This record gives sequence, C-alpha cells and structure tokens, in this order.
Amino acid sequence: PPSNEQILRVEDLTVSFDGFKAVDGLSLAVERNELRVIIGPNGAGKTTLLDMVCGKTKPSSGRVLFNDADLGRMNEHEIVRAGVGRKFQTPSVYEDLTVLENFEISLPRMHGLLQSLTFRRTAALRERIDAMAADVFLLDQLDRRAGQLSHGQKQWLEIGMLLMQEPELLLLDEPVAGMSPREREQTGDLLRRIASGKSLVVIEHDMDFVKRIAHRVTVLHQGRLLSEGTAAEVQADPRVIDVYLGH
Ligand code: ADP
Repeated sequence: PPSNEQILRVEDLTVSFDGFKAVDGLSLAVERNELRVIIGPNGAGKTTLLDMVCGKTKPSSGRVLFNDADLGRMNEHEIVRAGVGRKFQTPSVYEDLTVLENFEISLPRMHGLLQSLTFRRTAALRERIDAMAADVFLLDQLDRRAGQLSHGQKQWLEIGMLLMQEPELLLLDEPVAGMSPREREQTGDLLRRIASGKSLVVIEHDMDFVKRIAHRVTVLHQGRLLSEGTAAEVQADPRVIDVYLGH
C-alpha cells in the first residue's frame, strides 16, 4: 500500500514538440509503494510522460523530481542508476539466449562490468536468479531459449530482468498487451506483489485490469490532468465519461 512519502513529483511539466504541447502544465505525485495507473485516449500524453521520467525526452518547462533529484538534468544512464526502470510495450529480450542467460546479463546496476563478469557464475547470483525466475513464473523455463517463450512469458522475463537491477520505481507500458486471461491474472498478482516494496507507474487501457491493480488512477487528456482518484472514482467522473464517449 502507498506510504505518505512521495517518490516522484511532476511539477507543472510541459513537453513541446515543434510548439505542440504533448504534455501541458501537468502536476502529479506518486507515493512510495504505490501502483499508479495512467489512462487516457490516444495522444493524451501518457507515453511522453513516461519518456520524460526515464530521460528519453527533456522537459520544455517544469520539473520531474525523483527522490528530490531533478530528472530533467540527468541522462538516461544516470536515471537508471538512480533507480528508475522502464519497460516498453514490446518485450525486448535476447531471443537467442536462454532465460537463464538473459537474467545473467541483467546484472544489478551497482556492479561495474568487471565485477559483473566475475559475479556472473557465482552461486549467489544463481540463487538470486532462481528466486527472481520463481517470482515471474519462469523457474521451469530457465534453460529454454527466450525466443521460444510465449509473448506473455517474454513480458515476464523482461519485468524480471528489470527487477534484477533493483529499481525503486518501475515504469511499465501496457504490460498485459497480448496476454491470455490467465497470464493477465498472474501479472496482476505480480504487479501488486512488486508494489509491496517499490513504486510503479503503469500505462494501461483495459479498465477491468486497471480496477484490479491500481491504488490510484490518473486520467490524462490532451496533455493535461483530467481526473485522479481510485479506479471507481475516475470511472464515475463525468469529465472522464465525456472524453471516453467522445463528446
Ligand atoms: P499517448 O501515449 O497518450 O497515446 P503520446 O505521449 O504518445 O500519447 O503523444 C501525445 C501527443 O504528442 C500526440 O499527439 C503525439 O502525436 C505527439 N508526439 C509524441 N511524441 C512526439 C514527437 N517525438 N514528435 C512530435 N510529436 C510527438
């Protein structure tokens, strides 16, 4: 459950592309151990917001603070090292490597390259990988090539690889896209479990899934904050209903 401590603060953020404001004067705060879901119609600015948090895009004005560090002044690597992990919609795992090897190369961010190489084959690392693989439902898949996994299993592998780097904040873009109903259910459990010790910001369209996982929901529209609250609260908000019915 969310604590009262804010881990991410977006303050009056504007991101413009050639004068077009993809994010327009947006302010929001995410608490430690909170699972926040971002919804909104296509073009609402959801992806631009996550791109900004992970350093892919820079603010035109305003600030994004992560544990009081100003992310707008940091590059993507510095942001990863500070503890922000981003997963894009399409899983990017190394298809020719086994699941185990994929985990092995996703080493904790505090290890330098040389340390990583010696750490790679230690029993301690293997123990950590086994525990992580079990968490993301892949313990019996460690010797398979990642390319042979189902789409949902690849999503889990990528989430597990991100978690190996021990981020404090995870940014996920439609994590259940292309998953079976059973896989969605398992992913819902997984995300809620992750939120017991980390914060998550998740872009998601499927309202049934949103209701299941979200502590709070932020609704964006035309780059601005339209509504915020529990899933039930935002679903009952006339402004949200208006936008989704296309008035
Ligand atoms: P969402 O993820 O909610 O669908 P996006 O953040 O992808 O919305 O996009 C918000 C708006 O910003 C859209 O109108 C999109 O066309 C525009 N946009 C996003 N990225 C760029 C870019 N790199 N250059 C120009 N326009 C962009």
